[in-house]
Amino acid sequence: MPDMPSRLLVATNNLHKLDEYRDILAGLPLDLITLADVGINADVPETGDTFEANAVQKAAAYARMSGLLTLADDSGLVVDALGGEPGVYSARWGGRDMPYPERHRRLQQLLADVPWAQRKARFVCVIALVAPGGSARTVEGVCEGFIAHEPRGTGGFGYDPMFYLPEYDCTMAELPAEVKNRISHRGRAGAAARALLTVGEG
Ligand code: IMP
Repeated sequence: MPDMPSRLLVATNNLHKLDEYRDILAGLPLDLITLADVGINADVPETGDTFEANAVQKAAAYARMSGLLTLADDSGLVVDALGGEPGVYSARWGGRDMPYPERHRRLQQLLADVPWAQRKARFVCVIALVAPGGSARTVEGVCEGFIAHEPRGTGGFGYDPMFYLPEYDCTMAELPAEVKNRISHRGRAGAAARALLTVGEG
């Protein structure tokens, strides 16, 4: 991006994501600003049917409101045996207020008879970076795994306890945060975003 700005608005109301971005983007020569820092409490509705459309929609809206270079993401869990569900609807799957332990049970029930080889799933994250003038760039990160037979672990958030990583022989919720942030969909998209943000430096 031309004219490296000094501030980046990390536009999310999800405090877990915010924590992860503080780690994933640590060390960039940019001050990370939150929506609370700039007094924005609007929630931008996600009306797109792709991660990319929703990420751009959110980043563009918050860039307009704040006048800052803005990062927003859209992410979710894509389960092959469910035809890609919950996908872009991950945050509202089963109803916006359904607690995650119930969503985990829902996954267990829907996949009860599905053999291990067909329980493949991936977390997907698309990050959009939108400049105050409106120009947008997007990057994607994917993390492959399987839907576990039962939830395990207390780290992370959302569907992490149900997401088994064969390379680590544990669920995403059993990984130390620094490992999750290195290998996760958000970590991978974040690494690509870092590369875009540091182009032209040094
Ligand atoms: P959104 O990107 O704010 O629309 O919401 C994404 C939803 O996908 C979250 O509310 C979670 O349900 C799920 N999700 C996204 N990233 C993760 C993750 O790192 N771990 C577990 N669940 C996630």
